[in-house]
Amino acid sequence: MPAADQNTPAPEESEGGLLRDILFSFRKRCPVCRKGQLFSSFLEIAETCETCGAKLGDHDIGDGAVVFFIFLLGFSLIPMTWVLDIKFSLPIWGHVLFVGAAGGAIIFFLMPAVKAYIILLEFRHLRRPGDK
Ligand SMILES: [Zn+2]
Repeated sequence: MPAADQNTPAPEESEGGLLRDILFSFRKRCPVCRKGQLFSSFLEIAETCETCGAKLGDHDIGDGAVVFFIFLLGFSLIPMTWVLDIKFSLPIWGHVLFVGAAGGAIIFFLMPAVKAYIILLEFRHLRRPGDK
């Protein structure tokens, strides 16, 4: 049996289904070994996995997750502001506080998971020149 490819997810873990992949993305772990840390800071991808040595930095997606969030926030926060204005007649500073806090919370909790999910999909479906 050939040695396991260092940059390929284990077969039993590579076909987990959408829900399993999404839940895994919230753990922010290496998509290859599923144990090492994916991020070296809040949204900075680690160059290599400390556990298996996979080259995670080669799969940094840059602003890919940000584009997704521009659409998500635009299509959710603007209608929410409109509904809040109709229902509660908030002053403008109330909108700024409430919608700003909601947008900040969404970004803080979901942005790393979305970035981890996109990197998981890249490792599964897109090979880089350094990958084996
Ligand atoms: Zn790893």
